[in-house]
Amino acid sequence: MKIILLGPPGSGKGTQGDLIEQNYGFPKISTGDLLREAVQENTPLGKKAEASMNRGDLVSDEIVMQMVEARLSREDCQKGYILDGFPRNINQALLLEDISSQQAEVVLDIRLSEKKLIERLSSRRICSQCGNIYNLFMKAPNRPDECDVCSAVLVQRQDDMPEVIMERLRVYRQETEPLIAYYRKKANYHPIEGDKEIEPVFKDIQAVLEAELTKSNRSEAMR
Ligand code: AMP
Repeated sequence: MKIILLGPPGSGKGTQGDLIEQNYGFPKISTGDLLREAVQENTPLGKKAEASMNRGDLVSDEIVMQMVEARLSREDCQKGYILDGFPRNINQALLLEDISSQQAEVVLDIRLSEKKLIERLSSRRICSQCGNIYNLFMKAPNRPDECDVCSAVLVQRQDDMPEVIMERLRVYRQETEPLIAYYRKKANYHPIEGDKEIEPVFKDIQAVLEAELTKSNRSEAMR
């Protein structure tokens, strides 16, 4: 199954994607994480992407597609995968259709008001070592500024600074929101209420996924 996680920055796609991965075994592919890794490792691709990321703008489709195509061709994606932060515009959605297999597709659109998104993004902290994500209110670390998993220092992402947050939300409205209309026309689009604690949001997602898995198993059995 191909699971596409839509939703603005700060809506909880990363956290919910991790829970889906843990519970259903599909690998989560976050283009933001792949790009941050490339920047950290100073690869040619990372060098090209860094300036756009720091401004809060989208990286070019060409760079992102190169990365996604390489990742999707790996063995662990053959039965399905979870896409977090991709596609980000209609062109990427069309390119994804060209390169991806004919698996059942489910689109989960996590919805949240802009006021809540700003609150969440400004209180997000990540581990400088293992990348574990915290939120000072919803998923606070046991000790302030220290990762529960590896004890490394927690930091704020460069693009979670106030002026960059506003730019990311503007880019989302302009580039990514039209995707909702595109996917809404398809049968497997599911809006998810994101203004709740992590667990209740995941319960709603599970209800959708269970129904979709049953549907896709049934149609496979009929083939
Ligand atoms: P995220 O972690 O998904 O919020 O992504 C962080 C940043 O990486 C974004 O603000 C973009 O600069 C870049 N990025 C991530 N995914 C994509 C994508 N699918 N297309 C273009 N840029 C992306």
